[in-house]
Amino acid sequence: MSKTNGKDADGPEPGKIRETASQGDAGHRTKGKETEKKAEKKAKRSAKKAAKQEARTRRLDDHPPSSAAWARAADAGMGTAPSLSPHRHPRLARAAPGIVTVEPGTRFALASVDADATGGLDKAEAKAALADERERIKALQEKLYAEHARSLLVVFQAIDTGGKDGTIRSVLEGVNPQGCRVWSFKVPSAEELDQDFLWRYHARAPGRGLIGVFNRSHYEDVLVVRVKGLVPEETWRERYGLINDFERLLTLSGTTILKFFLHISKDEQKERLEARLEDPDKHWKFDPADLTERKSWDAYRTAFDDALSRCSTPYAPWHVVPANRKWARNLMVARTIADTLEAMDPRFPPAREGLAGLKVPD
Ligand code: ADP
Repeated sequence: MSKTNGKDADGPEPGKIRETASQGDAGHRTKGKETEKKAEKKAKRSAKKAAKQEARTRRLDDHPPSSAAWARAADAGMGTAPSLSPHRHPRLARAAPGIVTVEPGTRFALASVDADATGGLDKAEAKAALADERERIKALQEKLYAEHARSLLVVFQAIDTGGKDGTIRSVLEGVNPQGCRVWSFKVPSAEELDQDFLWRYHARAPGRGLIGVFNRSHYEDVLVVRVKGLVPEETWRERYGLINDFERLLTLSGTTILKFFLHISKDEQKERLEARLEDPDKHWKFDPADLTERKSWDAYRTAFDDALSRCSTPYAPWHVVPANRKWARNLMVARTIADTLEAMDPRFPPAREGLAGLKVPD
C-alpha cells in the first residue's frame, strides 16, 4: 500500500530551506538564516511533540491497569501484567481456513464469497475437531478470567435465519458462564433511543477477564436502520466513522474484538424459513416479519457490503464466514476464537508471596 506519510507532508522541507540559504546577496542570506532558524524551531517543536506522544504510549504499556493480584505481584517485584496495548501490538490471529477476512481499506462485496464453502473441512472429522476447539476455548477462558486484565468481544451479524443463535450455542458450549456474557440487541427501547446510538452497546462491552458476545450489535444502526430509513441518511453515514472510533477505544482499553458475519445464500434462507414453518417445534422462531424483510434482501446486501468495507480495520477486521453448512460454520468460528485467545496469551496471575509451607488448619 502506498500511503502518504502524514509526518513527511507536515514536516520541514529541507530542500527548500537549503535553496533559500544559498542565495547570493546579504539580504537574502539574512532572510535565509531566519528561515533556517524558523525551521529549526519547528523541527524542535515536532521532536518534543513526538517524544511526549511516545512517553504517553509507553506509560500505557508499562503501567496497564491491572487486577489486584497483578498489582500485588508488581509491588513485590514479581512481574507485571501483559501489555494492554493490542492496538500497537495486535493480539489478533489469522482467521480459520474458509473464512474471508475483509482487507481494511478495500471495497468488499459479499457476492465474492461462496456461502457453501467449507474451507476444505471434512464433515466427519469436523465433529471431533469442534470438540477439541471447545476444549481450547475453555482452557484459555479460564486463564483470561483469572488474569482479570483484558477481555474478548465477539460480534455476530447476519441476515435473518443466518445462524447467530445456533453458532453461539455450539461454539460456547463448555465455557464457564460466569466468565461470559451474551447480549442480544432488539429494537431499542424508548430509554435507549433517548441516548446516543452507541450507549447501549458500550454499557455491555465486556469487563476485564470476560468474554462478551453481541448477538446483533452496534452494526444494526447502519443496517436495519439504514434499510428501513429510521434515521436520515446523513445520520447513518457518519456512524461508520463513529463505530471505528468506538472499536478503537475498546481495543486501546484492552478488549480484543472479533467480528463474524455469517453469510448464507438467499436459497438457504428460503429453506430455513420453510423448515420453521413446517416444524411445530420451530414455530416460536418464525416471525412473519421475516418474510417482509426477505423482500429487502438486496437492500440489506448493499448495507452489509458497505458496513463490512467501511468498518474492517487493522485492529478489528470483519471475518465473513460461509454459513450454509452449519457444521463447517461452527468449526471455523470456534477455531478462530480459540486461535485469537491463544494469540492474546492470557496468563494465570502469579501466586501470592509466602504460600509455600502454609497449612490449612483442621
Ligand atoms: P433475532 O432475529 O436476533 O433472533 P428478534 O427476532 O427478536 O431477534 O429480532 C430483533 C429485531 O431487532 C431485528 O428485527 C432487528 O433488526 C431489530 N433491531 C436490532 N437493533 C436495532 C436497532 N438499533 N434499530 C432498529 N431495530 C433493531
